[in-house]
Amino acid sequence: MNGYWQEILRQIYPLYQKPEEQLDRQLALCGAKPEDIKTVVLSHMHLDHAGNLQLFPHATVYVPKLDFMAAQAQVRLNPNPNTHGGYVKGDMDRQVAQYVMIDEDCELVPGVEIINLPGHTPGLLGLVAHLPSGVYILPQDCIYSSEIYGPPARVSGLLFDNIAFMKSIEKVRKLEKKYGAKVIFAHDEAFFKTLKCAPAFYE
Ligand SMILES: [Zn+2]
Repeated sequence: MNGYWQEILRQIYPLYQKPEEQLDRQLALCGAKPEDIKTVVLSHMHLDHAGNLQLFPHATVYVPKLDFMAAQAQVRLNPNPNTHGGYVKGDMDRQVAQYVMIDEDCELVPGVEIINLPGHTPGLLGLVAHLPSGVYILPQDCIYSSEIYGPPARVSGLLFDNIAFMKSIEKVRKLEKKYGAKVIFAHDEAFFKTLKCAPAFYE
């Protein structure tokens, strides 16, 4: 992160990462190289979700339209990087095969739906994966942790629109009930320890 994240973000969000935790090394555990990946979905443009895009210059990258536009405006119109919030200009400069801007729920591929869950940021994408073992919902920063999910739902510290945030959480809850799904929390260390990690996978 040195020289890449602005100083203020390096102080607020110090990164503790072992070399084997880096994305290309995790893909290697699954027998894949970054250039094998043709489709990338970014939930939103915050630094801890949009980083590493330089590994996928040939991929089609799906982004939430409103957050992508807000982040682009933030890093280009505002000369002081310390006022860019959670966005990093380097992440927003990446050239990829194609950006696809999403603002409606849609099917990414058969069995995988993209859902819109705004609130944490102006736009935010989650995924619903229909697998033989069950349905998995990845709401990303719409729901950091089991504590935020409740019920009752609680607002998180970082928030763009609290009404949309609460609506999005209840959208996930409805889908969870509808499909008997498992919700995968994005930033929940205790929950993370219960998940299968590469090279294990869900099928
Ligand atoms: Zn975020």
